[in-house]
Amino acid sequence: MSVLIEDIEIVCPYCGEVMEADVDCTGGNQSYYEDCQVCCAPVRLIITVDDYGDLSDVKARREDE
Ligand SMILES: [Zn+2]
Repeated sequence: MSVLIEDIEIVCPYCGEVMEADVDCTGGNQSYYEDCQVCCAPVRLIITVDDYGDLSDVKARREDE
């Protein structure tokens, strides 16, 4: 059985600090904004979920990328 909520760590593209986020894998592929916990910039998270509902890829992008 897959884990539905994954705790992930991403590197903020603005300040370079590691930030944590929870990803709900039941939502499938998704992209949304999460404010960096360090510099408060809006980081765009691009989440890819595979056919089995497992997290396969996470990308962090600046707002203007
Ligand atoms: Zn930051």
